[in-house]
Amino acid sequence: MKTVMRPFLGKKSLLAAALGLLALTGLAVQPAAAEERAKDLFSAKKLPAATAAQSIGFYSKGCFAGGVAIPMDGPTWEVMRPSRNRRWGHPAMIAVIEQLSRDAAADGWPGLLIGDISQPRGGPMMTGHASHQIGLDADIWLTPMPSRPLSTAQRESMSATLMVDEKTHLVKDALWTPAHTKLLKRAASYSQVERILVNPGIKKKLCDTVKGDRSWLRKIRPFWGHDYHFHMRIGCQPGSPGCKAQEATPADDGCGEPLAWWFTQEPWRPNKNPDAPKARDLMTMANLPSQCRAVLDAPGPASAEAATYHGGSVPVAVAAPEPEAPSLPATTASGTAGLPSAVNAFTATPEIGVPLPRPRPPGN
Ligand SMILES: [Zn+2]
Repeated sequence: MKTVMRPFLGKKSLLAAALGLLALTGLAVQPAAAEERAKDLFSAKKLPAATAAQSIGFYSKGCFAGGVAIPMDGPTWEVMRPSRNRRWGHPAMIAVIEQLSRDAAADGWPGLLIGDISQPRGGPMMTGHASHQIGLDADIWLTPMPSRPLSTAQRESMSATLMVDEKTHLVKDALWTPAHTKLLKRAASYSQVERILVNPGIKKKLCDTVKGDRSWLRKIRPFWGHDYHFHMRIGCQPGSPGCKAQEATPADDGCGEPLAWWFTQEPWRPNKNPDAPKARDLMTMANLPSQCRAVLDAPGPASAEAATYHGGSVPVAVAAPEPEAPSLPATTASGTAGLPSAVNAFTATPEIGVPLPRPRPPGN
């Protein structure tokens, strides 16, 4: 061994080899750290960042701090698929959901079955949803809450009702009731709610049947999927300077040409490239607003219960006794440093509620 190695490695070459190894190690480590997939980091967080509530970035590219959970059960709601741990949102979002559940119950809807809201600190998820990242989106089932309480097992396994015929893209008339219309109208009535995503068939049903006040139809936006639930989105809330607002919806009821497009072949053509990775799968921490790193690193509350919303005044997640909860640095308009503007979170993202001529995404 010795006789083989020595002639080739003098002191100088040993040093060079060591330096080379260091350089290689450095190269190997650095890109890996920079390219940590955001969905892995955010989905691993079981509790929120215990700071003041703040949404950062855009609905499909961001995170949030100071999240609170909606209780698993309320007098007029039940959380579905609890094992996903996606019952977290900005306190204003949770308050609107609870308000809707009470008002809908007064309208005659027995109670809400609540689907995904956000992960505890938002961010991209391992499965489903391009948006739901900043605590301002919530999915609510179009199935009323059953009269008997659902067990945890039932909440995991119970199927939702498909309201739309997959061939015609029209609502199944046997299933649609005036109570469904009332529920969507009630959800659209809140000033915080900026838009509600529904299947195009549901939008058409409303366009064809709503009499009298139709102003609220402006907020009801057709989109793929959303045939067993609707998606309620609220606007950026006070205290979130880094929250990027979406474009306002057009002032008309949206029942004309943009809706007709959904009943052509174009939106339903098979995806030409079904295996192409989705944005949420590629997103790294470098693609998110830089503050999302601080959100990831912030301490959490002592327990989920400590950050569960129980109504009343503006709730803020309570931090575990130590270390002291930091306040996040203020966001600047150019929140994502060193990124080309094309991938900056503050660059306008294609509007989710506007029909765009593009192939159907493989699940959203
Ligand atoms: Zn949704």
